[in-house]
Amino acid sequence: MKTGEIIQLSDKYVMHTYGRTGLAPVRGEGVRLWDAEGREYLDFVAGIAVNSLGHCHPAVVRAVQEQAARLMHVSNLYYIESQARLAELLVQNSCCDRAFFCNSGAEANEGAIKLARKYAKQKYGPERYEIITAEKSFHGRTLATITATGQAKYRQGFEPLPAGFKYVPFNDLDALRRAAGPQTCAVMLEPVQGEGGVNVATPEYLAGVRELCDRNGLLLIFDEVQCGLGRTGKFLAYQHYGVEPDIITLAKALGGGFPIGAMLAGEEVAAAFKPGDHASTFGGNPLACAAGLAAMRVLLEEGVVQNCARVGEYFKEKLTALKNKYSFIKEVRGLGLLLGMELAVEGGGIVDRCREQGLLINCAGGNVLRFTPPLVITMEDVDRALEIMDGVLSTM
Ligand SMILES: *Cc1c(COP(=O)(O)O)cnc(C)c1O
Repeated sequence: MKTGEIIQLSDKYVMHTYGRTGLAPVRGEGVRLWDAEGREYLDFVAGIAVNSLGHCHPAVVRAVQEQAARLMHVSNLYYIESQARLAELLVQNSCCDRAFFCNSGAEANEGAIKLARKYAKQKYGPERYEIITAEKSFHGRTLATITATGQAKYRQGFEPLPAGFKYVPFNDLDALRRAAGPQTCAVMLEPVQGEGGVNVATPEYLAGVRELCDRNGLLLIFDEVQCGLGRTGKFLAYQHYGVEPDIITLAKALGGGFPIGAMLAGEEVAAAFKPGDHASTFGGNPLACAAGLAAMRVLLEEGVVQNCARVGEYFKEKLTALKNKYSFIKEVRGLGLLLGMELAVEGGGIVDRCREQGLLINCAGGNVLRFTPPLVITMEDVDRALEIMDGVLSTM
């Protein structure tokens, strides 16, 4: 099909839940995408932090092909080798002891919310159920996770919402101190907020949150669905801070492009879930876990995280140089290859113009250009992207 035909068919039959732009990629390799007409794009969106190894990484493709031909799915009534191996890898590379597998970030956070409530109610009593989250956070699109998300626009029109969530400004420890009460069971945060405009937690804040949680018997949940798995230049974002959470949620990059999510917890907290308390039909199936295992091995064993730290620093320097050139750029921020450029104007037009010039970027929260390229990009890729951006910005 031609691009125009794909768009027409999609617009006719698919629910209009997405603000899509006029591009229909049909093939990808590394940091590049192509449409049906053979136009090439440099992909600095990468599925919004999903394709961290680039498109169609050969190790992931091979693992998926082999596993698909051998065994795609069995029930969690039985033991699954690739699931056990992926759990082992995630535990060995984090502060947690056990993993639960699901299919998305929202599901991982649903699991975390349920686990935190179950743990707190068992340990302290039924009145402990409230979860405090941050303004400008993003935790997913299910009813519980839009309620956990500290942005009103995601909740409007879907009331009544589940009870037991409260929001505080991000990076404001006093506000959190005031908000925490006898009903609170957990604090849920993204160490680097993605969707909310690439806001990086300060070290003092996360250290203070950990201390507050310890003092009051609250669980600390880090939503690392976007900022985890190498994206910030460390395997997990919390490792920049030396502050360990009780529960970690993962998804996006976990399957190297294949859908899979995970929720990790320490032994004592994980033990609050008994057989039957939580489940997912597809969660942790052989195919998803084979993809995840292949992707995580490449990420950890082939210098991808180190590349992200190195190229991310270079990219940030170059973006900062652009900021000094254009007065409508307010701030450049982020960690590793989760970078944001806050503008004094709306960013949508710039995103469109960049796409027309063959560069895919994204805009978060209206006026923050967000860059989440594959972690395997080179400095030459960054130079090419900046050349296109500079050209677009110079016409603004
Ligand atoms: C994308 C995202 C989610 C939701 O993940 P889905 O797979 O879309 O359900 C949750 N939390 C964060 C931080 C995210 O970036």
